Amino acid sequence: IFPGSKDAAGRRATLGVMGGGQLGRMFVHAAQRLGYFTAVLDPDAKSPAGLVSHHHIQSDYSDPAGLAQLADLCQAITTEFENVPSQALQKLAQTRPVAPGATVVGIAQNRIEEKAHFAACADISGVTCAPYAVIETPAQLQAALEGRTDLMPGILKTARMGYDGKGQIRVKTTSELAAAWAELGGVACVLEKMLPLTAECSVLVARGWDGQVVSFAPQSNVHVEGILAVTHAYEGNMPPALATNARDAAVAIAQHLGYVGVLCVEFFVVDDGSTHGGLVVNEMAPRPHNSGHYTLDACDASQFDMQVHAMAGLPLPKPRQHSPAIMLNLLGDVWFDASGQLQEPNWQAVLSLPGTHLHLYGKSEARVGRKMGHLTITGPDIASVKTVARRAAELLR
Ligand code: ADP
Ligand code: MG
Repeated sequence: IFPGSKDAAGRRATLGVMGGGQLGRMFVHAAQRLGYFTAVLDPDAKSPAGLVSHHHIQSDYSDPAGLAQLADLCQAITTEFENVPSQALQKLAQTRPVAPGATVVGIAQNRIEEKAHFAACADISGVTCAPYAVIETPAQLQAALEGRTDLMPGILKTARMGYDGKGQIRVKTTSELAAAWAELGGVACVLEKMLPLTAECSVLVARGWDGQVVSFAPQSNVHVEGILAVTHAYEGNMPPALATNARDAAVAIAQHLGYVGVLCVEFFVVDDGSTHGGLVVNEMAPRPHNSGHYTLDACDASQFDMQVHAMAGLPLPKPRQHSPAIMLNLLGDVWFDASGQLQEPNWQAVLSLPGTHLHLYGKSEARVGRKMGHLTITGPDIASVKTVARRAAELLR
């Protein structure tokens, strides 16, 4: 699907996205830059992507009329939001190419299936996930209570709908487990062993309909209270062998899934040296990812460009990072001063620092913990990027 092409009715090539959040917005920007028209399906009248798209279908994700309208408008469809109902993607796929597909999105939506997939391709990826047990029934809870002290201290995570550390409870001993499961509503969960992390990293892979695969170098991530805070994207952000292993593992995972589109695989790094140089696979996101936002400013093709290319069947260019980068996530917290008053951050000072690239998502109001935007710092060398990032972080505290 080339950007300039028209359909039988003479309508311009249009790419669609399920979900209108910031990832959808940056996808829309990338698609439009190439000359595509865009359509966003999101129930929110003021969704960040809906605000900048040619078409905004304001309907529920599973509304048949909305889905029919999206399929009618678009030549190919993607998703920006991993909890999109997979039946909706299935429905769209009856008439349009949908990337990533309903099956793989369904796997990524469910930690139990996701871990089973990681286990199924451990031989080719070389990585395993943290030791865990599935808790879906009272009997499984009982079994974990009695037999899985090896998973303590642990972390109980809902199988579905968790993000940014939500839907998780940390448990020190099995005596806390029953209460934690009840607090999560007794829904399907995984109980994972808490690992002594020395670092976290993630890898972005893009795979085309023809099986062509490209990947970005791994970025190292710092989370605060379960939410990504800082991404370090430059050579030397992790030991070279670890970077190679993470990249190879992510590509193997995408290939084993028969994935089409951009996939982000998140890893833990532990210091026990037990598996693959301490690399443990955590989870995957079937879409561009917050940790890949630096690619917009530091690479010659961004993760959003890759999503456009992959879904539209364009060649996938091997991305080249032309500048070291650090990304600072801007949560709504930054908009509140010490006394809790809402106040616009000091952009004047931030933007006067060299190599700062501000991305705001157009959300109408700042709330604590809400992702409002991000700031990427690029520069001629790692030392200067670090210096500017430190200064920017001080200004944004
Ligand atoms: P989410 O879907 O919310 O991103 P994650 O499973 O990635 O859920 O957990 C969020 C963060 O919590 C991780 O990035 C990591 O910092 C921490 N965490 C999660 N699981 C473990 C674990 N088994 N051991 C140590 N830290 C963990
Ligand atoms: Mg995560």
